[in-house]
Amino acid sequence: MRGALGGPRLLLRRLREVMAEPVSAQARLDKIVVLIASNMVAEVCSFYVLRSDQTLELFATEGLNRDAVHMTTMRAGEGLVGLIAQQAQPLNLPNAQSHPSFSYKPETGEEIYQSFLGVPVLRAGNTLGVLVVQNRAHRLYSEEEVEALQTTAMVLAEMVASGELQTLVRPGADIALRRPVTLNGQPLADGVGLGYVVLHEPRVIIGNLIADDPQREGERLDRAIQDLRTSIDDLIDRGDVAHGGEHREVLETFRMFANDPGWLRRLREAIGTGLTAEAAVERVQSDNRAKMMRQTDPYLRERLHDLDELANRLLHRLVGRDMVGAQTALPDNAILVARAMGPAALLDYDRSRLRGLVLEEGGPTSHVAIVARALGIPAVGNVENVTGFAESGDAIIVDGGVGQVLLRPQPDVEAAFSEKARLRARRQEQYRKLRERPSVTLDGVAVSLNLNAGLLVDLPHVEETGAAGIGLFRTELQFMIAERLPSIPEQLSLYQTVLENVGDRPVTFRTLDIGGDKVLPYMRQAEEENPALGWRAIRIGLDRPGLLRAQLRALLKAAGGRDIKIMFPMVATVDEFKRARAIVAREQAHLARHGYEPPRDLKLGVMVEVPSLLFEIDEICAEADFLSVGSNDLTQFLFAVDRENPMVAERFDALSPPLLRALRQIAEAGARAGIPVTLCGELAGKPIEAMTLLAIGYRSLSMSPASIGPVKAMLLSLHLGRLQERLLPLIESRDGSNTLRHHVVAFAEEHGVPV
Ligand code: PEP
Ligand code: MG
Repeated sequence: MRGALGGPRLLLRRLREVMAEPVSAQARLDKIVVLIASNMVAEVCSFYVLRSDQTLELFATEGLNRDAVHMTTMRAGEGLVGLIAQQAQPLNLPNAQSHPSFSYKPETGEEIYQSFLGVPVLRAGNTLGVLVVQNRAHRLYSEEEVEALQTTAMVLAEMVASGELQTLVRPGADIALRRPVTLNGQPLADGVGLGYVVLHEPRVIIGNLIADDPQREGERLDRAIQDLRTSIDDLIDRGDVAHGGEHREVLETFRMFANDPGWLRRLREAIGTGLTAEAAVERVQSDNRAKMMRQTDPYLRERLHDLDELANRLLHRLVGRDMVGAQTALPDNAILVARAMGPAALLDYDRSRLRGLVLEEGGPTSHVAIVARALGIPAVGNVENVTGFAESGDAIIVDGGVGQVLLRPQPDVEAAFSEKARLRARRQEQYRKLRERPSVTLDGVAVSLNLNAGLLVDLPHVEETGAAGIGLFRTELQFMIAERLPSIPEQLSLYQTVLENVGDRPVTFRTLDIGGDKVLPYMRQAEEENPALGWRAIRIGLDRPGLLRAQLRALLKAAGGRDIKIMFPMVATVDEFKRARAIVAREQAHLARHGYEPPRDLKLGVMVEVPSLLFEIDEICAEADFLSVGSNDLTQFLFAVDRENPMVAERFDALSPPLLRALRQIAEAGARAGIPVTLCGELAGKPIEAMTLLAIGYRSLSMSPASIGPVKAMLLSLHLGRLQERLLPLIESRDGSNTLRHHVVAFAEEHGVPV
């Protein structure tokens, strides 16, 4: 079998010389293909570049007809070259013309060549082009040759990324790397942000791809891997699993990969072809990323993600940089782009310069998403490979309302989004003007509009929005963004600050709602088959009362001499509420014994979010001082749809008779018993839904700060009596309607209610 002439190392050395020559981009490419062809004893070497219209254009060739350069193009998926680009996998064929994808381009004169080896030109998992060698005779290229060609492709990837080839581009045939891209993810925080990419963990720029001394590179790699293993072992042994937000499980996976012989062999092979240690890591990582983007099995994707993360760490070790993110000096209009980010890291950035956040990982309930919402930063999550597409400084638009990210947008798109952002700002300004208006409907029904909060950064919103109070303070957020369990003094300090900030307005604190999707990284919890139905919230509080008692103590101390409302999440039976109330009584007695001033008024309430409580609704009304409906969970459990699963989360409309009847029963039971009922789930913050809630009897709603304006604008123009006349009979109607939404929308349109 023929081997590469002089081997891959000689080729790389020669390539380095060519890269340094002061010649034009085309001349450099022409030299490179000649070099590769001769080194690999191939009659043909061709280089195709992916354009933004997704066609591959022949940029240089040795062996094929030179007139075809910049003339021959192929769609992605068309022909062998198109197939390689699409699959991001090498293709090694002794008899190319018999391959079903072979497509003949007469202008190239390639019909005489039988064997074919093509590799994708990859960077951060993105295909930038395709590199091909061909021979007349039938031959299967050796594994070493495939490896060598892939290594060479890296050099070409850098050339494309450097922008050098832009000079060869004809108008309208832009190179793919720099093209505008629209990426879809999940909406995390509403709003539109325009700005420039700031990578949270800047990509390691590898200055030197080609090694002077391969042996030394091998030693550098071994040392870095050894270091990496020790650091992972240390993290695991220290048991400090909250460090950097890492979970033990992830660290265990890292440990497994760091010792994986297959991964280590691929790294060594890449060094064997003449790359520096860091370039070898990037080579293997890029292949892995390409695989990851095409993998549909969620478990395998997750593992490929872990491996990618590990490669990142190794790269940082090799170039001697720390992994820590948040830079202090942000440019104006910064849009943060990250693979993943913890809430504390986001809080480290200068809020006044941040216009948006884009994450590869992280859904709507992730802690960083909660913080982004609290800060009012438009954010999109689960955006595949955005750190691969985005370069620092690229123009970028984040639309947190629909979950879209536009990278390097065309000027007309940018203008349209600027207009959208301006409109939003104008609308916000109009909402601010409503701040002082009493929230009363046209027919004189007063409605209390409250805020959902959970962090210090939420507090200024109370004043800004003119909210009546805080209807839901999610105390678990402090726990979720902390690196270790907050102490009683830390909890006390937060609760005191909250009470001081809101003045006379009422605040309802909810006791810890952890478990389910709300995981505390520093608290070990057993794996559960169905965490949403598992050991969570008040269940933990009652079974292991230490944590709940400590929290109640902090809350009661903070409220000395003031009014306070405390409610319990996920209560399923009256008995659970009574037991929780007994724990409060015990803490009150304890504080009294120690001479603490008691709250002036303490009200204890229940969140109605587990359907079983609907069947004990009068009994719970007789026991509790107030109710607060958690419509997010109530909907999830009533319809049996996982609120986090996009495949089913939107399956049933909230404005359908089953849910509306359930919600109405709760409101009516509260009214019968003479106790206040609030609704604090997401439904409260959407004008159409809020309108419907008013119609079925709710007079107190609690919502995110951005929703107060739109909901208030709605109710100020609403004649509630007329809406009730129209809607209430429909809710009880036996015609089996799927949703009543269209009736509410029609009413709003007919009566000029802004929704
Ligand atoms: C709810 O379930 O509606 C609710 C307000 O609580 P959370 O969203 O925090 O579960
Ligand atoms: Mg809930």
